[in-house]
Amino acid sequence: MERESEFTRILRWPGYRVYRYEIDERGAKLRLWVRRKRGNRKLECSGCGRKFAEAYDARERAVRDLPWGVFQTTVYIEVYRVKCPDCGVKVEKVPLLPGKAPFSERFEDAVGVACQSAAIRQVARQHGLSKSTVRAIDKRFLARWHARRRAPALRQMGIDEIYLGKKTGFLTVVSNLETAEPLWFGRERKKETLDEYFRTQLSLRQRRAIQAACVDMWAAWKQSLTQWAPQCRIIYDKFHIIGHANNAIDEVRRAEFVRQGGWKRELVKGKRWLLLARWVTLETENKRLLNQLFQANRRMWKAYLLKESLGQLWNYVYEGAMLNYLQKWIDQLRWQRLEPFQKLGQMLLEHLDGILNYCRIKVPMGVVEAVNGNIKALIRRGRGYKDLDYLLLKARYMAATKSESIVLEKAA
Ligand SMILES: [Zn+2]
Repeated sequence: MERESEFTRILRWPGYRVYRYEIDERGAKLRLWVRRKRGNRKLECSGCGRKFAEAYDARERAVRDLPWGVFQTTVYIEVYRVKCPDCGVKVEKVPLLPGKAPFSERFEDAVGVACQSAAIRQVARQHGLSKSTVRAIDKRFLARWHARRRAPALRQMGIDEIYLGKKTGFLTVVSNLETAEPLWFGRERKKETLDEYFRTQLSLRQRRAIQAACVDMWAAWKQSLTQWAPQCRIIYDKFHIIGHANNAIDEVRRAEFVRQGGWKRELVKGKRWLLLARWVTLETENKRLLNQLFQANRRMWKAYLLKESLGQLWNYVYEGAMLNYLQKWIDQLRWQRLEPFQKLGQMLLEHLDGILNYCRIKVPMGVVEAVNGNIKALIRRGRGYKDLDYLLLKARYMAATKSESIVLEKAA
């Protein structure tokens, strides 16, 4: 009996004592049988929390617990069921046993924490579990973390989309700009998608608290925002607008490739990424390659200047100055016959208010991009690609704890 009480002290399972143990030295396995301590007789219904003095029946459950040194530990615990007038025959609530899974909560926490910095495969090997079991443990760990926290209020929201390939299509991502945390995923990118977010996730009060939304110039978003959060200011994100400018220069490049032959065509070839990059980020050799192209092709040169100069629009703090710069930028387009840029100019004029809102209300730019980048990084590493709930929890935890926010730091 002496040794059992020592084991009870080391196990530290609230309300329970070890009454039997087995040590398998060769297999490095420790088995502990536990039951309630004397005096710990109150039973609680796991469904509603009602207290009971009498048990309906009892059974033994085996759960993996934290290892003791190199010994894998299994705890055999006596668990009662109660006859609850509200829930029927229900298992009692046991500290450290959050659900039906054969693991203690503290074991799941240890596995969950390990999953935040190591690959599933690694964690699985370390604990002698299958990958799918580790993934399920990780998801429960994240769900408990999320249920216990108070999520920060949503005042500035970001709306973006991620393309997940032909099969899955587009995913709409709603995020909190102030915390850089993704809040919700929706299938497709229609007005109905965003409508669903507002309808199912936010109360009227929460919808009214939204001051600003950072979005792409996509009519569906604007329609939904106008309907559900009419007081919110729509801001067209710099990164999205630059994205449109990149598409325009790419269109010009393709047209030039078709239009020109011989060595001039060869110059355009393979320059896509160089043309999309910002000049200041290019290395000397790449600058030389681009200059070579620009000397032979004036249209590419003009298109490139337009793309580069549009980025300076966000250097302006005052609305009037910003408008003035944009007007001049659009004036330059007049005699260029660069149709993709003319279309872009028209688009910018039609969305002028949302562009100028950048000067009227301060929102952190680039957060939407960073959130998107973090999610893509998670998908690339194959963590919960198919299970969107898991992917969202993972991305939220990552943002809240900043454990893997490499992309975020870059954007800041
Ligand atoms: Zn109950």
